[in-house]
Amino acid sequence: MKLDIPQPVQTILHGLSHGYEAAVVGGCVRDRLIGLSPKDWDITTSARPDEVKQALSGLKLLETGLKHGTLTALSGGMAVEVTTYRIDGEYSDNRRPDSVCFTGNIEQDLARRDFTINSMAYSEQHGLIDCFGGQEDLKNKILRCVGEPDRRFEEDALRILRGLRFCSVLGLTPEQKTSQSMNEHKHLLDHIARERVGAELVKLLCGQKAAETLRQFPGIIGQILPEILPMIGFEQQNPHHIYDVWEHTLHALDTVAPDPVLRLSILLHDSGKPHTFTKDKKGVGHFYGHEAVSVQLAEEALHRLRMDHQTIRRVCLLIRLHDVPLQLNPAWVRRRLNRMGEEDFRALLAIKQADSLAQNPIYRDRLDALAAIKPILEQVLAESQCFSLKQLQVNGADLQNLGIPSGPILGELLTWLLNAVIDGKAPNDKEVLLQLAAEKYHEKQC
Ligand code: ATP
Ligand code: MG
Repeated sequence: MKLDIPQPVQTILHGLSHGYEAAVVGGCVRDRLIGLSPKDWDITTSARPDEVKQALSGLKLLETGLKHGTLTALSGGMAVEVTTYRIDGEYSDNRRPDSVCFTGNIEQDLARRDFTINSMAYSEQHGLIDCFGGQEDLKNKILRCVGEPDRRFEEDALRILRGLRFCSVLGLTPEQKTSQSMNEHKHLLDHIARERVGAELVKLLCGQKAAETLRQFPGIIGQILPEILPMIGFEQQNPHHIYDVWEHTLHALDTVAPDPVLRLSILLHDSGKPHTFTKDKKGVGHFYGHEAVSVQLAEEALHRLRMDHQTIRRVCLLIRLHDVPLQLNPAWVRRRLNRMGEEDFRALLAIKQADSLAQNPIYRDRLDALAAIKPILEQVLAESQCFSLKQLQVNGADLQNLGIPSGPILGELLTWLLNAVIDGKAPNDKEVLLQLAAEKYHEKQC
């Protein structure tokens, strides 16, 4: 077997080959075996860090993890981690080894890795080095710990989330002992840095089997995101719904594109429902104001998981608006574009579509409205219809030329003109707008 390795990585392997063993290892081997392009390449070597420095003296090296035997080599525009074969010492914090010791034996290095699919190495000399049956598990789509699952998750609980992420992204199923142990050790996730938990959650959510993985491991997801727990099994008692809140969420998750903001928004869009449930006289369930509660819960959760501000802002906006009724006319579309911009408006339509597809299919009106609004949006954009001050045919300087002094009044007049154009009450025509501005200004002065 021959694995396709990029030239800059080969350069490093070649540099180490005089006197040492060196192989690509871990996720990059896994990904290449199933035809994916790895996002990073890692090298494992028998050379000690000082020896790596010497062997690769022609390259720029960064001391990114010297304590753990890792140097980052910059080669042909790529940053490649080069790590000495090592055995991890005791883990006293369920996170990282207290100490590591170097070894000359690659099998020992492969044994410290989390899952069989991640424990393969490859070099041109030795071909695939697969001591734990990783290739077979990858073929059969099985997630299996290297060694005793209980011990491996006790050492480092982040592996539980990495495991779920691989299930979601690569479509794997954990073998029984691995799966049981992941569930039993979920409480150890409380010791893991929140930004690492958040990063794994986002990758998990963007996988092809996200909904199935969440359905299978709600307890683990609930450990890092307790906000989801009240949704599980919460019956909606409303004819628009055929699923409980959690099942509805998972069905919606499957239909929305694998984008972090969209997936996070769907995951939490109805989290406020269990907290706002009321029943009317006919016994029908309602969730008045649930959007606002969902926004609150999402904001708190995403802050806790150290998501970036832009992601939090967008997710909260989409959750707040997810139930807003669509108005099928260009003026409404222009108003929304003015308030939220094209990207967020398109995201809102995607959220509404996924939400509707996961509701009772006999009520089609929401899907029909979505189908009808898209051509209106495309036309507004294709015709560059005006929805922002940038597109307005007059600007502040034009108004000043009319004799209107700069200051708040100028801004007010521009906004007034823009709204008139957005609402279709005035054409976006310089002459007409100047005339209107002059009249309005005069009116205000009287
Ligand atoms: P990806 O890069 O696609 O996110 P990956 O498996 O390559 O996934 P990396 O963080 O790049 O993840 O790690 C490279 C390799 O290091 C892994 O494939 C695995 O062999 C090992 N590894 C990473 N994290 C752990 C861990 N927490 N416990 C044990 N081994 C790990
Ligand atoms: Mg990797």
